[in-house]
Formats: sequence, structure tokens, C-alpha cells
Amino acid sequence: MKILVAVKRVIDYNVKIRVKPDHSDVDLTNVKMALNPFCEIAVEEAVRLKEKDVATEVVVVSIGPKAAQEQLRTALALGADRAIHVQTDERVESLAVAKLLAKVVEEEQPSLVLLGKQAIDTDNNQTGQMLAALSGLAQGTFASEVVVEVDKLQVTREIDGGLQTLELSLPAIVTTDLRLNEPRYAKLPDIMKAKKKPMDVKTPEEMGVETNTRVSLVKVESPAERKGGIKVGSVDELVDKLKNEAKVIS
Ligand code: AMP
Repeated sequence: MKILVAVKRVIDYNVKIRVKPDHSDVDLTNVKMALNPFCEIAVEEAVRLKEKDVATEVVVVSIGPKAAQEQLRTALALGADRAIHVQTDERVESLAVAKLLAKVVEEEQPSLVLLGKQAIDTDNNQTGQMLAALSGLAQGTFASEVVVEVDKLQVTREIDGGLQTLELSLPAIVTTDLRLNEPRYAKLPDIMKAKKKPMDVKTPEEMGVETNTRVSLVKVESPAERKGGIKVGSVDELVDKLKNEAKVIS
């Protein structure tokens, strides 16, 4: 069974986001970038399925600038076998990402495609769903457990107030939630080995996929500064302030 995992290069989750002075976007100058955490979970799941001899090959794919090869190398160090880099310096919106991934799915014919449930930079939570629609494949989103059977897959999903289990026929698309697994750290020898693993580089034009943008980013604003708190001396004082100053209770 071949597994394809889509991974995105995003701003590291520990970094404090800075907005450009003209509010046109987030400022990425000299900012640490990383593998999107949900994509890391997707890679870990694929590698575990390979370790259990359920999967025979794990292929990772990323769409983005040349620097996205760093995140592909990380995925290779975590245990993926080979990488595909769709290189573009343009901002690629979800529909275009899904179209490019659909093309890779068509070429690679994986039995399972794993994606993160969302990329933490744009919080779109839609690429997996779009890919499932474009490829005509079954989808299981927000997976907290994945069990592969002969020609089907059981996916447990985290939904409001509980868990839902679905059975999908293969090939299928699954997006990963936080509790699916705890990703491993790449070991130094694996980081060295990853440098020699194959990486196929292509462009959207070579793939014949149009990536025109239909959505433009108008502006980005930082959240309002939090005002400093105060300490109250008693419950009575607190109630008084909530009633008469904050006016949140009557
Ligand atoms: P999103 O719909 O943008 O929140 O992203 C959900 C998931 O789609 C991510 O966790 C990735 O698995 C995949 N994805 C989004 N953008 C890209 C990209 N540029 N390259 C590869 N995979 C992507």
C-alpha cells in the first residue's frame, strides 16, 4: 500500500507573529519556519503504518518555494521514502493546492492520502476536503484513530461531544487531528540519510495545472493588545466592578 502525505511549510508555532507595517501580510523576514504540526502527525501515522508492514511506501509532497524542501527533508528524516516538490514562489490558494495534489494523486495512485486537518498559518481547514471532491475519493476528516483493513479503512473522528467511526473504501483521503499520535523527533543519522533520499522537483506549469488566484488577501491585523489586569481585595469588590465598571453582570 502506497501512502501519499501532503506537508506544508509554515511559520513555527513557537514564533510570535509579526504583521508587516502596511498590514499586507504576516512578516516572514528572519522567522523560523517548520513543518505544519498536523502534517507532522500525518507523516508519523504513515511511517507507523510502514513500520507495521501495512504500508510499503511513504511519499511526501509539498507545494511552495524552494525553501519548502527543508520541510520535505524533515519528513524524509522522520521516515518517508521519497519526496515530490511542486515549486512555486506564488501564493497558492487552497483550491490550487488541491488541484495540484489531485494531479499527484492521479500520477502516484496512492491507496491512502494523509493531510493535516489544517495549516496553522492560514487556518483554512479545506484542502483535504477539496482534494477528496476533486479526486472523487472517500474522506475522513479530523481523524483521531486510523485502522487499515484489506481494502477499507476505519477512521475515528473527533466531533462535538464525542467520537464518530466511519468506514471508508480505499483509496481514501484522511485529515489528521491532534490526538492521532505523538510524532517522533528525527534522529541525527536519519537526518543524514534523508539528504540522499530522492526528491522530484516540478512546477505547476509542467504539471499543466492552472493556479490563478480567486481570493486576494486584503489586510492582516494583530489581535487587540490585552490591557493589564488588576487585583481586587474581596469578592464584593469584584462583583461591584463587574456590575458597575465592566457592566457584564446586572
Ligand atoms: P489547509 O486547508 O490550508 O488548512 O491545509 C490542510 C492541509 O492541507 C495541510 O495540513 C497539508 O496537509 C495540506 N496542504 C495545505 N497547503 C499545502 C501545501 N502548500 N503543500 C502541501 N500540502 C498542503
